[in-house]
Parts: sequence; C-alpha cells; structure tokens
Amino acid sequence: MKICKIYEIEGVVQGVGFRPFVFSLAKKYNLKGFVFNSSSGVYIEAEGDEEVFESFEFELQNLTPPLAAIDTVNITQTSLKNFDDFKITKSVYSKVKNTSVSPDMSLCSECEKELKDKNNRRFGYPLINCTNCGPRYSIIRTVPYDRINSSMSWFKMCPKCEAEYNDPLNRRYHAQPISCPDCGPVVKFYDLKGSVTKENPIEKLAYAINEGKITALKGMGGFHIICDALNERAILRLREKKRRKSKPFAVLFASIEMIKEYCDITKEEEKALLSQIRPIVLVKKKKVCALSESIAPNINRIGVFLPYTPLHVLLLEILKKPLIATSANISGEPIITSKEKLVKKLGDVIEAYVDFNRDIINFSDDSVLQLVGKNSIFLRLSRGVAPKSFKTAYTCKESILALGAHQKSAIAIFNNANITMSPFIGDLESVESIEAFERSINTFKNFYDFTPSLLVCDKHPNYASTIWAKKQNIPIIFVQHHYAHILSVMFEHDIKEEVLGIAWDGTGLGDDKTIWGGEFFLCDLKRYKRVCSFKPFKLLGGEGSIENIDRIAFSILYAEKDNAHAAVFLNSFSDEQKYLLERSYEKDINAPLCSSVGRLFDAAAAIILKQKRVTYDGESGLNLEALYDKNVHERYAIVINKNNEIEYIYWFLGMLEDEPRVAASKFINTLAALMVHVAQKYRKKVVLGGGVFQNRTLLEKTIELFEKERIEFFLSENISPNDSGIALGQIIYALNNL
Ligand code: ZN
Ligand code: ZN
Ligand code: FE
Repeated sequence: MKICKIYEIEGVVQGVGFRPFVFSLAKKYNLKGFVFNSSSGVYIEAEGDEEVFESFEFELQNLTPPLAAIDTVNITQTSLKNFDDFKITKSVYSKVKNTSVSPDMSLCSECEKELKDKNNRRFGYPLINCTNCGPRYSIIRTVPYDRINSSMSWFKMCPKCEAEYNDPLNRRYHAQPISCPDCGPVVKFYDLKGSVTKENPIEKLAYAINEGKITALKGMGGFHIICDALNERAILRLREKKRRKSKPFAVLFASIEMIKEYCDITKEEEKALLSQIRPIVLVKKKKVCALSESIAPNINRIGVFLPYTPLHVLLLEILKKPLIATSANISGEPIITSKEKLVKKLGDVIEAYVDFNRDIINFSDDSVLQLVGKNSIFLRLSRGVAPKSFKTAYTCKESILALGAHQKSAIAIFNNANITMSPFIGDLESVESIEAFERSINTFKNFYDFTPSLLVCDKHPNYASTIWAKKQNIPIIFVQHHYAHILSVMFEHDIKEEVLGIAWDGTGLGDDKTIWGGEFFLCDLKRYKRVCSFKPFKLLGGEGSIENIDRIAFSILYAEKDNAHAAVFLNSFSDEQKYLLERSYEKDINAPLCSSVGRLFDAAAAIILKQKRVTYDGESGLNLEALYDKNVHERYAIVINKNNEIEYIYWFLGMLEDEPRVAASKFINTLAALMVHVAQKYRKKVVLGGGVFQNRTLLEKTIELFEKERIEFFLSENISPNDSGIALGQIIYALNNL
C-alpha cells in the first residue's frame, strides 16, 4: 500500500549536506515527494510503499552526514499527493527560527586531496571547501544558512561552480561558501610598507616567515599571528613587541608525525588532534626538544594543533616546520577579524600578512582541549564546537539569557527547551571586549529569534556582565559564582540529587562578601550549603593586585611572623614594601578576605619558586606542575578547625624548608588528599568545577586517589571548568528556581 509521511527534523541539519542525503535516500527507496530547509530545520514529505519506510527512517536518523546532528524528528502521516518525482525545493522560512547554527569545520580529506591534485580545477585554491567542511558560523549574518545570508553573498558563482551547487549528487550541492579560482574570494599578501600582491601570496608569506618576520594570516574565525617556532630570535621579538612576557604560544604543525618529533603524545591526544574539530591540545614536550624554550617558558607542556584551513595546509607544505600560531589580539581582547583592525591594533607587531575578501562575520578562537587520563576536558569551547546546543527536558516559558562571569566570558541562552552556548569571547576588561560581548548577544538574538525575558548573572556587582544586565530593564536572577560552576557540571552529567560540589577557583564573590574559591558545597539543583572552606587570609592590595603573588605569600606567613622561617621570608622584602604590607595587614587597608585555592597556588609559587609576579592566569599552577615529582608521596598535614575551615599555614611553613621539587609535589598531593578526606566524610557523589581543575597534575592525582578510594566523581568535560562554563550553570540555576 502507498502512504505519505511528513518529517520535521530539528538540530544541526542545514549546511551539512542533509538535503542531498535525504535526496539519495529517497532515490534508494523509490520515494517521491520533496525536501527543503525551513527556519526550524529540514522538512520532508515522502510518498511510497509502506514497507520501505522502516528502513528509510532508520537510515534517515542513523546514517546522517558527518557534520549533521539531529535533535528531534517529528513524524506525521498525511494524505497521498501522487508526486511524480523526488525534489529538493526552495527554502521556506517561517517566523520561528529554531535550527542550530553549525560551527565552522576543518578541511575535509576529499577537499585536501583536490587541493593537492594538479589536475583538479581547485588545485592550490586556498579557499576550497564543500558541504562537509569549511566555514559556517563565521560567515553567517542570519539564519537560515543560505549564501544570500552569508559573507559569500557578494560573489557570483561561475557556471562550473553553479552546476556543482545545483547537483544534488555533488559533494558541493548547496555548499554555501562554494567557490573556485575563477569566481571566489581572492587571497592577497600585504607588507606593511604598503605593497599588495595577489601573485603567490602564500609563497611570499612563507618567505617572510623563513626570514624571521612576524606575520599574520587570516584563518577561520579570526587572524593568527605567525612566526617560525624554531627561530628563537623571532619568538623573543614577538614577546617583546606584544609585551607578552611568558604566556605560552600555541604551535601549528604540518602533520601528526611532525608533532611526534617534538612531543610525547598519547593515543587519545593523537585522536583529539586529528578530530574534525582540530583543537589546540595541550601535550608534553619531549625532554630533549628542538622547540625554543621561549614558546612556553618554565612549563613542560605546549599547545599544539594541526592545519584546519586550506591556507594552513598550503603554507606548511612550503615551510615544512612548526610555526607559532597565536590568536591575533591585544591580550584579553577578542580575536581580530578584519585587516583594518589588524593593522590598527597590531601594526607595530606584525611585518606582513595575508588576507582574503571573504569577511568573518562572527569571530571564534581556536578551541583548546586537555586530556587527563582518558577524560578529555575542553578548556576553551570555540571554533569547531560552538555555538553548542543541547536539547533539554525543561519546559520553561521564559527566554533566558545568561551572561557568564567577567573573565573568559561566554554567554548562553535558553529558548524553546534548547540551551545554546556561545563561543569564547574574552575578558570583559576593555571596550573592545564589551563590544564583542554585546555583539555576541545580538548575534544570538538574531540566530535564534530570541528576545530575553529573564537575565541571569553573577552576584559580583563589578563584573561588566552584571553591570550590563542591570542596564537592560529585564528581570534579573543573580547566582553565586561557584555554585554556577558546580551546576554546569551537574547538568553535563545529568545529576539531580544532592552532591558534594568542590568548586576551586581563582576568585568569585561569596555570600559573605569575601572572595571565595575553595568551596565544598552540599548542593542539589536548587540550593547549596557551604560545608567546608579554606580559612580566609587577607588579600593585601585587593583583588586588583593579584599578579603580585609575593604579597599573598607575605599575608599568609605574616600570621606566623614569629616563626623563624617565616621571618626570613618576610624580611626578604624591602623595608618600604614591608612597611606598606604590614600597614595594610594590621589596619585592614585594602585587604579583603579571600579563601581561594587559585590564590593559594600563587602563594605556593611565590614561596617555592621565589617568584614575585605572574603575567597570565594559571601561571603559578603550570610552574608548580613542571616541578611535580611522581616519586614524592608525602604531603602536608590536613587540619580542619571547628568552624570547618581548612588550616594551611603548616603547608606554607613546610614549603619554606622543603626543596622546591618536594614542596611543589607535597602541595599538590595535599590538595588531592584533602578532597578525598572531605569526600569520605559526606559520602556523596563528588562534582568538581572551577578554574583550578584545569591543573592537569592536580586532576591526575585526584583521579588516582578517588579511584583508589572508590569515590564516584564527575568532571567538566564538554564544557570548560573555567569561567567560560559559568553561563550554562547560571541557566540551570534559573530553570530550577523559577
Ligand atoms: Zn570538503
Ligand atoms: Zn567558480
Ligand atoms: Fe570561576
């Protein structure tokens, strides 16, 4: 018997070759009808013999194209229309926009083959792409994702491209950024003396890099600053020009084999590096490694990645060596997307660059991933992953916009049962960043037809996101920072019961108005109780001076100033400094109370490494990790006082006596043992969240102890443990407390 069915499919189904896939399935099962892109996804009407539908539906939902991700399929039966063919018809847009926007994707293997094939018409074409790869999010102005709504709308397809675009059986059928050397965007080389050329731009860039120049290259969601990773002088010049003293640079390699020449990577790391996302993966440098020490000073790990655009592939084919490739931006600001801004902001840093005239509408940085044992943990969710949507079971009528924290900003929305997270934005500390933050909100409003009826933000009154929220005239819910960290991980693992949430972090405002960041919470999705924390110490100079880590150590040891070892440390400060710090301590001048583990790492680094300042977030932890010795099994004493406060003064007095390697190892061992100690008291599932859990050594040690003691624990994996994961936790709080 003949029947006719309607399929309404939602999810990442546009711009990923879904319609051609449906077309070929329909042909296979001899179904007649049509398929088109709607504003909520893909709409199919299919008519044919009743018995083929079961297989058709199975394949439709299970053998989808590589980049597609179905959220829901709504199937209804309808009356017979007696179609005579199966067609892909024009997109129909209604008012409700519900389709997920696909992230940008790395060059696929078929395109790479064509790129290197002398007989292909796209041989060496630096912007080659197809439905399985290339830009998406970065070139979309509005949904639905059609060429007219993208930054490719200016380019008229040549007859050959048009034929491919219109052939349902072609890999480039409706590939919106389709182009070729005859009709596509043009790549040009610029030197900063004013000369421009479109002749062999990549060869010219390669030549400049080989000469030791600092260059820039337009990538997918923004520009990279690029120089030779084997040229120490070039790297030192880059550091000096960018005033970036020691923050590590990521390194781009031509192939996985090349990475293995310089780094020791695990099977899991190899798999992550080769995955379609092509993230930056933090891996161990080889003990003897030709890479310049100035790429990542004082740490034993570097961020490495593989080419993900055809331009990268062509450049590395010529150069055949590792390259520094770091986001082009002023520190903390969003990645630069246009050549005008590049020249304006970094004109005194770079000496040449390569650009093309396909505009980047939406910026995104490289995603960053770390593997801890078998757990892969996203430290930055961006290109290739974000925007990231989750279908939820929540049936809330509100349209919720969560604004995240202040540093490592990212936003999230809840709309029609979906939660969608934005790519990483940056630190909201400059006009540029706050503009990018607002732009991201507007992009999301536009893409998801979203008007917020409720805002969620952090309790900290001075966060730019909180200040922004208060100006909007929309109801606001405030969420405690560390609770939001835990909620985000609870959502990821679908945990609803009461857990022991351990939120260890840099900073965050506590309910008692002191700075928290060493929390043990008993909590569920509605409420939390702070059951244990670190004894507060005075943050001399206030939150604004946390780069001066020696002051934190001073403050902690000052409490024991009569101890001989502590006195030696305190006397190592100049008389004037000592006077100011003592005064601040004794008179409580600009000395807020703080109990954050991030700051304890700073104090430990100041004592163990005799370091006075840090220049980037997480530096103390990375430097201590580099000293960690697996053969040191001792730790410092765990003492919890009557007020459920952890006393750590003994640790710091111990560090003054122990040699650096031993002290760093004992400190990390103590923190891990402390978590086990508290977990054994409460006997609940343990949920770990907050920026401190980016520390791989601490996490490895903790996992080892938890597994040994059979304590069930959960980590943030697909959502970052740092503040870019906060917005998700804020949404979960709102959904459970309305
Ligand atoms: Zn491709
Ligand atoms: Zn063409
Ligand atoms: Fe945080």
